[in-house]
Amino acid sequence: MVPHYMQKITEKLKKSGVLVSDGAWGTFLQKQGFKPGECPEEWNISHRAEVLAIASSYIAAGADMIETNSFGANRFKLEHFGLGERVEDLNIAAAQISREAAGPDRHVIASIGPTGKLLLAGDVTEKDLYDAFTKQAVALEKGGADACCIETFTAIDEAVQAVRAARDNTRLEIICTFTFEKTVRGEFRTMMGVSPSQMAAAIVEAGADIIGTNCGNGMKNMAEIVKEIRDADQSTPILVHANAGMPKNAGGVDIFPETPDEMAGNALAVVNAGANIIGGCCGTTPGHISAIARAVKNLEKRK
Ligand SMILES: [Zn+2]
Repeated sequence: MVPHYMQKITEKLKKSGVLVSDGAWGTFLQKQGFKPGECPEEWNISHRAEVLAIASSYIAAGADMIETNSFGANRFKLEHFGLGERVEDLNIAAAQISREAAGPDRHVIASIGPTGKLLLAGDVTEKDLYDAFTKQAVALEKGGADACCIETFTAIDEAVQAVRAARDNTRLEIICTFTFEKTVRGEFRTMMGVSPSQMAAAIVEAGADIIGTNCGNGMKNMAEIVKEIRDADQSTPILVHANAGMPKNAGGVDIFPETPDEMAGNALAVVNAGANIIGGCCGTTPGHISAIARAVKNLEKRK
């Protein structure tokens, strides 16, 4: 269970300015021996020690909060692996593992990813999505998460169902981040055509406590996205989980080029643009998080 004395992330931000989140899970799992075709969340049971090692390495690197290995643990994604009935136990295990690594003083921001279903295409109804996200969020809270990170979304309608599900059925603090790409016209849009300012308005309205952006871009591009969110919304805290640069494919393997020091340098620009929580997405390692944590702490000392 969540320690009852734990302060909310938004409360902590009022005092400490900038907090540090964790780095990649997916690319880190691959390094631990995860093979394509396996179900990542099934590892919470079958490879518990390896998953715990990832969570612990980010805490050791200086992260104030860590995610959970539950990105695809909704009914729709688990059904692909024949594990549609395992939503509850796989999410509970995910949260328990991260809580074990985090202890009582760091936050567990449980990962909730998209279902892969499109409301627009009529694959599912809003109620189907709401029910699926409710089941996942309730299980993550039961396992000891104190917040959820609804992440890598591209469609407002689906993200709104996830935010409402967590808001209505749990006491989790709600973070929601979208993935943007730069268009040929130089604007940032999600795959579904959503701009950072449209995301901010709709997601805060739905009930998120913290908004932001993850994946798709290296730390450098994130400054521009954060600036647009901050221009649209002056008060909601912003979280950024950036990739370690833009991936380059080399022999079928994605190589992420940004070194920890480069990324930490770029993180300062992201903080200056208005971000409050900085962490990593694909390709980032505990080395990246530790460099970011050092850079952010220096920043706080100078204030
Ligand atoms: Zn990513």
